[in-house]
Amino acid sequence: LPPADEVAALYPVTVNPTPADDSVHAQALEELKFGTTFGDYMGYAKWTEDEGWHDRAVVPYGPIPLEPSAAVLHYGQEIFEGMKAYRWQDGSVWTFRPGFNAARFNHSAWRMGMPQIDVKDFLGAIVQTVRADERWVPSSEDSSLYLRPFMIASEPFLGVRSAAEYLYLMISTPVGPYFKGGLKPVKIWVETEYHRAAPGGTGTAKTGGNYANSLLPQSLAAKKGYAQVCYLDAATNSHLEELGGMNIFVVHADGSVQTPALDGTILEGGTRGAIIQLLADRNVTVEETPIALADLIADIRLGEVVELFACGTAAVITPIGEIAGEGFTVAVPGGDLTLSIREELSGIQRGILPDRHHWMYQL
Ligand code: PMP
Repeated sequence: LPPADEVAALYPVTVNPTPADDSVHAQALEELKFGTTFGDYMGYAKWTEDEGWHDRAVVPYGPIPLEPSAAVLHYGQEIFEGMKAYRWQDGSVWTFRPGFNAARFNHSAWRMGMPQIDVKDFLGAIVQTVRADERWVPSSEDSSLYLRPFMIASEPFLGVRSAAEYLYLMISTPVGPYFKGGLKPVKIWVETEYHRAAPGGTGTAKTGGNYANSLLPQSLAAKKGYAQVCYLDAATNSHLEELGGMNIFVVHADGSVQTPALDGTILEGGTRGAIIQLLADRNVTVEETPIALADLIADIRLGEVVELFACGTAAVITPIGEIAGEGFTVAVPGGDLTLSIREELSGIQRGILPDRHHWMYQL
């Protein structure tokens, strides 16, 4: 990856904001409520057919001028990424596998008919914004500055075609642990009525519509007392895909591990890939394969599957203690692998364990 100083220079800080009040800042870092308080700055760039990406800058966080006819507001041409800036014990600030997120962003852009963005431009906004917002990177345990780079179709035009004008923006919000119960195992609802993605659809892209369509099933599951929804494949309604914002792993009593194969409808997680690598380092080959719900339920009941966990940037790795759906409820016993792999991954992200795979990038 290009060095941080080089990419930061692409995004000059053009205007300084009135920084958030010290008391607002202190309270936000104390409460660390996901997505409620934002850094003082944001990254900005504009794309037009004639000029490509231009007007790169880091500007005060705040409203952006957008015409009511802007294409994103009508047809949802929008993509985003989710990353974190971690403060290490020596005070330095790092992010995890930004090259992976840049590549996934461009994959999403391709699928949604949006322009590609050079890794330097993708990264530059992140580095310069986090540098300007250093005081927003928390240092308390399990906290970080969540980063949200995104691209929207800003062209004022109501026709259904790819827009001719886009904005790339990068905002941040300080966060603590994702699930309120800490590392308590979560309960998952397996959804058989609604699907997240279909073959040939946009499931492999990180685009707003995939999340909009998950809100109804998510709230129905929440009413029943479940923390997250697990989606099944739309073609056969029988195989596990992923949760609304996390990938899923299955651990067998004999130590073998499975995760749903990337079948063209699942979002490929950076955390998923890192876990596959860390397990390979322990001589455990993760089998990427279709996982039938019926087999999973039977295997848990027989004691052959002992752990289930969910993984993603926001929640890192979270044990699943129960899965339920129409007509079944199964408790998952749990075990050591989930916690040990979480410790290892968190240790790397927080600079406590050696970064064997060169995943960390200093901002
Ligand atoms: N699946 C979905 C649908 C997601 O939104 C996310 C979060 N980006 C993930 C999986 C996990 O991806 P990552 O590990 O890169 O955060």
